[in-house]
Amino acid sequence: MVQAYSLYEGSFSVDKSRKFVPFDPSINAPQDRPGAMFIDVHPFLIPTDAGLVLCDTGLGYTDENGRLQLYDNMYRLGYRPDDVKYVLMSHLHKDHAGGMVTFESGTGRIAFPEAEYIVQRGEWEDAYSGISSSYRTEIFDVIQRSGNLILVEGEGNINNVISYALNGGHTAHHQAFHIHTDDQHYFFGGDVLPEPEEIFHNYVAKYDFDGRRSKALRQEYWAEGAPAGWIFLFYHSKNIAIGRSQLREDGTYRLIDATLQE
Ligand SMILES: [Zn+2]
Repeated sequence: MVQAYSLYEGSFSVDKSRKFVPFDPSINAPQDRPGAMFIDVHPFLIPTDAGLVLCDTGLGYTDENGRLQLYDNMYRLGYRPDDVKYVLMSHLHKDHAGGMVTFESGTGRIAFPEAEYIVQRGEWEDAYSGISSSYRTEIFDVIQRSGNLILVEGEGNINNVISYALNGGHTAHHQAFHIHTDDQHYFFGGDVLPEPEEIFHNYVAKYDFDGRRSKALRQEYWAEGAPAGWIFLFYHSKNIAIGRSQLREDGTYRLIDATLQE
């Protein structure tokens, strides 16, 4: 059985200013935001044998009370922020790192106080030094002080459920995660594999640190994971966010929604 949940934050439009503006298709039309890209945001929650795991933390979007929408989504599934034992960070761009902390009380506090936050050392250094405007350094001051930060390098295992692998591509020190639990193999490729369409439409993305590498990695992940039955988690998907392969009669694989079938 597939046990992974999207803590969907919503759909956002992003223009040259790099501000994420909530996009509600019932109110706005795409042409109201000329030149903007449209981005959906799916942090993922996975109950595992090693405790509750969160894959990336969204923009840190808040409800009308200033409470993280991530929290609301979690409560709805019957979990509390204190239940989270691991926060797995693919990289630290603001659309992934916003919910690492909460500013609900006026000052920044760690959002998941019982969790270890798993971050690549090189990504941390780039983010903390504010190498680009895609990073929000006020978040990292809070994390730095928290004692919850675990810096990892290259590839390795956190325990017998979670492993990480530096893969670069999107940022110089981006990482992917494999999560083995309940006879399932979940794969979180972060922004190297953000949307299913990118597997099938071979293209190099402008916003990547190394677009060719990302493109090659996507092909490798699908070539390995489709026959092996991996469950793919697509952080920026506009349709299937939690997917798995299905064999076609011609021997190729297509992607189906993993939450809809047994
Ligand atoms: Zn992203």
